[in-house]
Amino acid sequence: MLLKVIQVGDDALRMPAKKVTPEQLKAGTTQQLIDLMIATLRDKPGIGLAAPQVGESLRIIVIEDKKQYHTKLNPELLKIQNRKPVALKVIVNPVIQVIDETINTFFEGCLSVDGYRALVPRANKLQVTGLDRTGDSISFAAEGWSARIIQHEVDHLDGIVYVDKMHSKSFMTEGNYSKNWSEAPPASINELIC
Ligand code: ZN
Repeated sequence: MLLKVIQVGDDALRMPAKKVTPEQLKAGTTQQLIDLMIATLRDKPGIGLAAPQVGESLRIIVIEDKKQYHTKLNPELLKIQNRKPVALKVIVNPVIQVIDETINTFFEGCLSVDGYRALVPRANKLQVTGLDRTGDSISFAAEGWSARIIQHEVDHLDGIVYVDKMHSKSFMTEGNYSKNWSEAPPASINELIC
């Protein structure tokens, strides 16, 4: 079974999500929700999904950036984006602390804003703390593209969608992104930054 990914305009994406209690995390319903979030993320496929995107007001995110997703992308762009494969991570009650405020601006998309992309500025490096799905504490540093994914997903837990932070002039369809920008020299994006 897969979950329906809610699209922007639905109130569920605009409400701050609730912290998961230890009892809630152990519950079969929450563990099943996590399994279904992973299945849904892989089915799309996407690289990150937050519980509010499937209508659950809980502070749970799943991220995974498989190597196979990179094969169709420009290797130069992957390098500039500092995008490396990320193994599946389930993070419950994530808290992020920016440890390198350098801003990277790249195109990103969202499963809840289906069919569009825009340039979004994100901090370069974070310390991420939270719980794994068994309730054990986790803490790790995330840099570059993985830091971008985590900032995007944690924003969802606070009712924030990337369109709130994007350079609005850069908002475009996937089709126009592929046609005009996926191979464009990195410096050329400056014309879309307002
Ligand atoms: Zn999203």
